[in-house]
Amino acid sequence: MATEPQDSGSLYEAAAKVYPRHVSGPFARLRWVMVWVTQLVFYGTPWLTWNGRQAVLFDIEARRFHLFGLVLWPQDFILLTGLLVCCALALFMFTAVAGRLWCGYACPQTVYTSIFLWIERKTEGEWTARRKRDAGSRNIDWWRHKLAKHGAWIAFSIWTGFTFVGFFTPIRTLAHSFTSFTMGPWETFWVAFYGFATYGNAGWMREQVCKYMCPYARFQGVMMDAGTLTVTYDAVRGEPRGGRSRKADPRAAGLGDCVDCNQCVQVCPTGIDIRRGLQIDCINCGLCVDACNGIMEHLGYPRSLISYTSEDALRRRYSAQVTANPERAPLPYMPDSKGSEAARVITTAMINDAARADLAGTGPRVHLRRLALYGSLLTVVTGAIVVALVVRVPVRLDVMRDRSVLARDTDSGMIENVYRLQIVNMSEHPRSFRLSVTGPESVAIHGGTELTTVPALGSALVAIDVDADPGRIPHPRFPITLQVQATDSSKVVARSETQFFSR
Ligand code: SF4
Ligand code: SF4
Repeated sequence: MATEPQDSGSLYEAAAKVYPRHVSGPFARLRWVMVWVTQLVFYGTPWLTWNGRQAVLFDIEARRFHLFGLVLWPQDFILLTGLLVCCALALFMFTAVAGRLWCGYACPQTVYTSIFLWIERKTEGEWTARRKRDAGSRNIDWWRHKLAKHGAWIAFSIWTGFTFVGFFTPIRTLAHSFTSFTMGPWETFWVAFYGFATYGNAGWMREQVCKYMCPYARFQGVMMDAGTLTVTYDAVRGEPRGGRSRKADPRAAGLGDCVDCNQCVQVCPTGIDIRRGLQIDCINCGLCVDACNGIMEHLGYPRSLISYTSEDALRRRYSAQVTANPERAPLPYMPDSKGSEAARVITTAMINDAARADLAGTGPRVHLRRLALYGSLLTVVTGAIVVALVVRVPVRLDVMRDRSVLARDTDSGMIENVYRLQIVNMSEHPRSFRLSVTGPESVAIHGGTELTTVPALGSALVAIDVDADPGRIPHPRFPITLQVQATDSSKVVARSETQFFSR
């Protein structure tokens, strides 16, 4: 629950500490499912093995990324770029459909804050106890609870930092050096850095990261429209809010369905009041939906005073009356409100706007056009990545001319050029390659076609002599193509064009 900041006369408003109240319900459970799924993936993936090596390893030193059976080299970074573009487009599309799903359920900041809040509740008690302790004196009880909480937070953060580094350095070797206190300086630095970031962001900064630091919160609004699902308070139904006895008829008392219990505010991890309308601070976690539905059930009122809904859906709920009389819509519970006039006006205006858009035939179409655009782009980029992976050849050939001699005459009357070939075997088993040359008829590799074996994920440097008959060459300088082809697959082939000089 948010407490009012003190007026210190400063232009800077100090952030009030938020003590979120624990709540249970479908959205709270979904959040924990996502915590388990994302954390099992994060902490478990580096321990998986594939072909006797770590399945997922970003080996920066060797400049190779291992992703199960796929090994990506620096020249494959275009694929990683495509993957990032896909992630961005998927994020845009999900945001257009269901608002800040990422923020509410999968963002590391959200997930780690949930875990840290759980630890805090286990070590310091419920939100009221925590708030009371913080307001009290720093006695032994205070220190005991704080030490327990921070000890658990720090241990968890170090484990997180260790796991993060385990994606970049073989995690079993890292575990050995970690437990024997022989980690290198870089590994120590990154474990400490990532651990400290986790501890600071999830333990201390929490909702401040979402409110002030996250760029996505700033621009996600442009991806949303009237068809986007967001957590919304139905002010038309809820206002005017106010307390009443459980048996009282709210309509007879001139009240809406909101009993002003404040539970939606108390459970909010960012400490906001959703009844003020859509706010940039709302991460769409749905906890206020759970809290309010609990209250509604307790009172015997219909659920969904706060719900995951869209402007279009709200409009459908009320628009028959609005479209019949756009000037003065006879909305239900539209009294001379007290307390939340702003929310009522916002919602009423929103419904009126959406109804007009619907009358003009533009509302749902904009939503569908946006989805079609994101979906098409996502399909095209994903398709391009799949095609690139399918046609990807696991061999690379680089050709360098011998710089010491341009061309030389051989005893047999031929002209000879020397080339150095670097053959990179990008597959995970050793391979033999056959070398060949194509060009004018008389051009051939001296000594015939050569065979060379290159180790798995390794390279070989081969020097070859290419001969040409001076009487049968077209020009003093002409192009030739050198080729390497795997002996076990005609599809694993790489070519490189170079020049042949006769003098
Ligand atoms: S939880 Fe529901 S009833 Fe209680 S204050 Fe919030 S909106 Fe009103
Ligand atoms: S207002 Fe509701 S949905 Fe938004 S962050 Fe707070 S609890 Fe979550």
